[in-house]
Amino acid sequence: MADLHELTAVELLAKLQSGEATSVQATQACLDRIARLDDDLGAFLSTFPESALARAAEIDRRRLAGERLGPLAGVPVAVKDVVVVEGAITTCGSKMLQQYRSPFHATVIEKLLAADAVLIGKTNMDEFAMGGSTENSAYRLARNPWDRERTPGGSSGGAAACVAARMAPLSLGSDTGGSIRQPASFCGVTGLKPTYGRVSRWGLVAFASSLDQIGPLAKTAEDCALLLEAIAGHDPRDSTSAPQSVPAYSRTVKEPLKKLRLGVAREHYGEGLDAEVEAAVRKAIRVYESLGAEVQEVSLPHSRYAIATYYIIAPSEASSNLARYDGVHFGYRTDEQAMLAELAAERKALETAGDQRGLDELDAPLVRMYRKTRSEGFGPEVKRRIMLGAYTLSKGYYDQYYVKALKVRRLIRQDYDAAFKNVDLLIGPVAPTAAFKLGENVNDPLGMYLEDLYTVSANLAGIPGISIPCGVTAAGLPVGLQLQAPAFEEERLLRAACMFQAATDWDDRAPESLGRPA
Ligand code: GLN
Repeated sequence: MADLHELTAVELLAKLQSGEATSVQATQACLDRIARLDDDLGAFLSTFPESALARAAEIDRRRLAGERLGPLAGVPVAVKDVVVVEGAITTCGSKMLQQYRSPFHATVIEKLLAADAVLIGKTNMDEFAMGGSTENSAYRLARNPWDRERTPGGSSGGAAACVAARMAPLSLGSDTGGSIRQPASFCGVTGLKPTYGRVSRWGLVAFASSLDQIGPLAKTAEDCALLLEAIAGHDPRDSTSAPQSVPAYSRTVKEPLKKLRLGVAREHYGEGLDAEVEAAVRKAIRVYESLGAEVQEVSLPHSRYAIATYYIIAPSEASSNLARYDGVHFGYRTDEQAMLAELAAERKALETAGDQRGLDELDAPLVRMYRKTRSEGFGPEVKRRIMLGAYTLSKGYYDQYYVKALKVRRLIRQDYDAAFKNVDLLIGPVAPTAAFKLGENVNDPLGMYLEDLYTVSANLAGIPGISIPCGVTAAGLPVGLQLQAPAFEEERLLRAACMFQAATDWDDRAPESLGRPA
């Protein structure tokens, strides 16, 4: 029997149901794996060994008593540290929320618990989900399990790495501009960004509210179907969640799609796309053709403006959402005694110098408290986004930047509407490259933003997208394939992904040389 931590959620559920394994054993296997590997990999920011084992024992007991259990009964799940869990710390990868203990559960957490899942920990991420490498985490570096000198991607880097390293069969990430799909691609796992409104954002710490979505990461599309089914659905507490019923994804996922029409966007094969990534994607397209799919070229003419549009809208919303971190409402506050002493010393020096202007301009204590709190609590990328967003929303520039970006966003959505008149799904790359080296892009914000070329459009248009492993580079790094569907067609996406995974074995591959560096 394979070790329990190696199994997919579907395989594990079968063993739990048949009595071949217990949830305590499975949970312990994941916790042992984390204890062995995570000092080095940095996928987790916190773990819940005691509560997880206690809950697993309770589920095992209920199972033995013949009680009816939920669809994820006894399966360990990791959650990106941007989703709040009652009583637990949610840092969002930021010093700002180092001590933040949520008084309530996010809706997705309530749903996971109602499905009898076992929460094992919170995963590492870029600060406030801003970034594509997890290097913006205020806490620890995360490494790619396939090559520890490389990034697992981001911002849900920990969520993808923990699945790739077999530390949890399922995890939840969030995707504002690719943050589920890109790390899934870099780590060789499957990750789905649902339609905007499919999953409640209640209890998801806001980055860019018109783009953010929570979604599943797992080894297979079948597992993603199971997890999505558990978390999706209308929620009166999130006014943007859609009042649509949730299909039984897990029941239909294995049914192949007949007469599938796939669209290849001309714009997805341009400048910047790595040759090995392109070759793997083209090979994947041929796999679909061999499965009976018909492929045609389509055009998304406004996709060349997607990065510019996203990097106006997302920072604008972020600058507004992050205004709440001021040392009063939430989170970190600067050391007030030190701040008052600093102000008194400055006042004294100005008085001695007879500098009346300096005295007039000296901060009031409250203003100094806000300023120091925000300078100390946020990292450089978050500050950059707040400044960009404050600028694009400012009087005089609002129409030129923010309003214009909203208009281009509409055009991008219309491109998709036109393409989906002729095809069922779009097929293309997730990211222009495989996982890059740690440190390679971190001092080059523009280079980092360009990694988001193929992912941000789905968020701007609100449509779902999935990343599935479709190859490896000569250096042994995973390559992801992206499928995108019209809004609320996650079922189609999952079935198409499952078809590919039934015909290939890329999803079965795990990084070989895990462990501490010699
Ligand atoms: N890399 C993108 C950014 O930095 C996407 C982030 C995300 O999806 N949360 O904004």
